[in-house]
Amino acid sequence: MTRLFPYHLSLDPELEAFRSEIEFAFDFVDQNYGLVRSSSAARKVYYGLRALDGHSDIYCPASLFPTGIDVADDGLRPASDGLRCIENGKGRAPLLPPEKPLKNGLGYDAPGLIFHQLSRLEERQSVGSDPYGRFPYDATLAARTRRYNSPLADQAAEDLARLITGDVTPIPVTNFSVVPTHDVDKLRGYNYAIDPLRFALGDMVKRHDPARALRRLHRGYFAGMPWSSLTELMSLSEHYGVRSQFYFIGPSWASEDTPYGHTMPKLLKQVVNAIRKRGHIVGYHPGHGTFNNAEYWRSQRDALEAIIGGNLRHGRQHRLEYSFAHTPDIWSENDMIFDCTPAFPNATGFRTGTCRPHNAYSLVHRRSLPVTLLSTPIQDFAYFSNGKYRDMTIDAAVQEARQAIDVCRRYRGTVCILQHLGQVHDPARSFYKRVLTECFEPGLGEKT
Ligand SMILES: [Zn+2]
Repeated sequence: MTRLFPYHLSLDPELEAFRSEIEFAFDFVDQNYGLVRSSSAARKVYYGLRALDGHSDIYCPASLFPTGIDVADDGLRPASDGLRCIENGKGRAPLLPPEKPLKNGLGYDAPGLIFHQLSRLEERQSVGSDPYGRFPYDATLAARTRRYNSPLADQAAEDLARLITGDVTPIPVTNFSVVPTHDVDKLRGYNYAIDPLRFALGDMVKRHDPARALRRLHRGYFAGMPWSSLTELMSLSEHYGVRSQFYFIGPSWASEDTPYGHTMPKLLKQVVNAIRKRGHIVGYHPGHGTFNNAEYWRSQRDALEAIIGGNLRHGRQHRLEYSFAHTPDIWSENDMIFDCTPAFPNATGFRTGTCRPHNAYSLVHRRSLPVTLLSTPIQDFAYFSNGKYRDMTIDAAVQEARQAIDVCRRYRGTVCILQHLGQVHDPARSFYKRVLTECFEPGLGEKT
């Protein structure tokens, strides 16, 4: 085991009220760079609103705490005016790194930026929502400053590790890795057996598009679902020596979900058994309306476990419905260990500002939570959405995904990929294979 680098952290008394949040931010740096805080360490770091006169401690400037945060009855919320000032670099240290790195010192509030990103504090603002009631990508600091694909918390952690250790090029202790995940929004090529026929008739009669009708019938009845897709996804992961994670929706009649837990329990059990037999992971895909309703969330999970057996500990919220003030608490209360929901449906990048797994933070209860979050930068439907978000060529989509993979490689992070079960046709099918090549055999995926 590598030796940990010890340092002593002291806080400005004015920041003491935010000790829990500050410790959470420094924990992230320690975990990723092999550092440890120790009261007896010779290396001393001072985090405060202004440098101490006559002290030799390394100075780390603060500004998010306390100016940018309101402590309300229901936990932490962004203080809009204060936050806007420090985002724009007015007042004390700015929240964002300077364009050009400073020769001495940080010049910005790196621990504050880490907390701001990992906790998703800014998502407790009232800025409206997207058509699905979700926090809009455009409102995030990362999107507004065009930094969504260059994770801000990772940059801040590297800068802090450099400041604390004095090492010009601090090396993370994490390893580059890849996690393929597969939401199972449909088990067969349809929810109800009549659906493909009904929609194909619509293609013929209303849309006068017989080719589309044929495609629909093929996808619905003749594509060999779920086994064709399942076998291919598992074989691809096995080829590269990684485990896939398949996430299933619990029994639900909601039109936004899928009823396979009610209508196809036998097939569901067979599919789950096949996944487990080959050593892949089976997880939970909580349905519409569960993200802020603990009881409903749990009832769906328990009903799913009753059908398939075993405990489900990994997953992603269906439709990316999420509230950072509620959902991580629900997952933690229910002993979940891994949640890769954080993502926006219309962009490639890192919603929690990092390409590494990290603990969630409860904005309501003001403490670190046991559930691990991981942003999913690459999602099939973000590139090929049939008009819903974006529709790109395979080459353009691979190029965009490659940037995220390069970021993960640079910071030794984890590339989390979402490829739904049932993507048996192009462009999504070929795209996924090329993304895996980019991850495991970089260079070979280039278009010749
Ligand atoms: Zn889903």
